[in-house]
Amino acid sequence: MKCECPDLITGVCKWNKKDITYWEEMNFSGFTREEVKALYDEAWMTWARVADFNPRRVDSADKANVVAREAFLGLALGWSGLPCGVSDNAQLGQKYKSNTRWTKKALLETMRHEIGHALGLGHMRGTIMSPSAMGFDKLTEKDIKEIQERYGKRTSPEPDPDKLDKEEFKIF
Ligand SMILES: [Zn+2]
Repeated sequence: MKCECPDLITGVCKWNKKDITYWEEMNFSGFTREEVKALYDEAWMTWARVADFNPRRVDSADKANVVAREAFLGLALGWSGLPCGVSDNAQLGQKYKSNTRWTKKALLETMRHEIGHALGLGHMRGTIMSPSAMGFDKLTEKDIKEIQERYGKRTSPEPDPDKLDKEEFKIF
């Protein structure tokens, strides 16, 4: 099993705003901090390239809507909270398994999956949101349809991860 999230979500879960902030300072064996940071930013951007919301890294967990931490997990590789009926300044937690030897591909796929949950998606078979997804290196049409139903198609220029709020970026 890949993800500890419940398989059944009732009602539509989503953020009712476009600017969604996140924070992580995770460390995984075999990866530098820069590599983890780049993978996590890319996982957010995977969704933001097709849907109209703007993910933004912030420099403190207090200010973040989504806070990702590494954690000692059993069978699951990850877990994420869901934005069901949340206020704009709500905070969701995410956990990524620390007691495993990640490949870059598996870590990125898991981050994309858990961020999908943090944006409101439930589990769907045959997609990156499958609870046991293995080897998806991009979103499927179903993933794209689900995210666009919540946030609309991207109409504004893509946010550039390198330009995500440089002020708050300097810890790196
Ligand atoms: Zn899941």
